[in-house]
Amino acid sequence: MDRLLEGYRRFRSEVWPLERARYEALARKGQRPETLVIACSDSRVDPQTVFGAGPGEMFVVRNVAGLVPPYRPDAGYHGTSAALEYAVRVLGVAQIVVLGHAQCGGVKAMVEGAPEEARDFVEPWMKIAEPVLRSLPAQAGPGDVLEHCETEVVRLSLVHLATFPWIDAAIAAGRLTLHGCRFDIRTGVLARLVGERLVPVA
Ligand SMILES: [Zn+2]
Repeated sequence: MDRLLEGYRRFRSEVWPLERARYEALARKGQRPETLVIACSDSRVDPQTVFGAGPGEMFVVRNVAGLVPPYRPDAGYHGTSAALEYAVRVLGVAQIVVLGHAQCGGVKAMVEGAPEEARDFVEPWMKIAEPVLRSLPAQAGPGDVLEHCETEVVRLSLVHLATFPWIDAAIAAGRLTLHGCRFDIRTGVLARLVGERLVPVA
């Protein structure tokens, strides 16, 4: 905890004085973020850092591999779908960004098999993304397969987003747009999905 508390004290002494008015306005008026980001829990891929966003700007959902499950309103514990519902229907976000990344442990567990310690929840969770395994590129090396799957997982999440009726309706009404990205941890380069291709952001 010491390191975290040290970070907090730095926040209080250095960041808070500069951002105080902003936090107070957000507390008074409530949040109205323009963007919902769905990202992986990976400690190296922080959406606020990658997009340079401040408090109140992004509603963020993070889970293993940054997956969106298909719309399935049943008795299950749908944490990600609950966050989607709140962001889209209550907060009225204008865009949803699915942020995938390189070296994703969740995608690796799906492609190569989950480690024994991650079979209670990670393995069944990653089954959401298994359709991407049906479209592996021919004659690809192991690294290529992972990279391909990391990209396809983002595309699949975008497809699943459109299965939520109120997301589909908001898109049709021109109130909401969907975007896919992939962050390369080693190079720090963000690429955007344009059709089926990833294009590095200039
Ligand atoms: Zn990941």
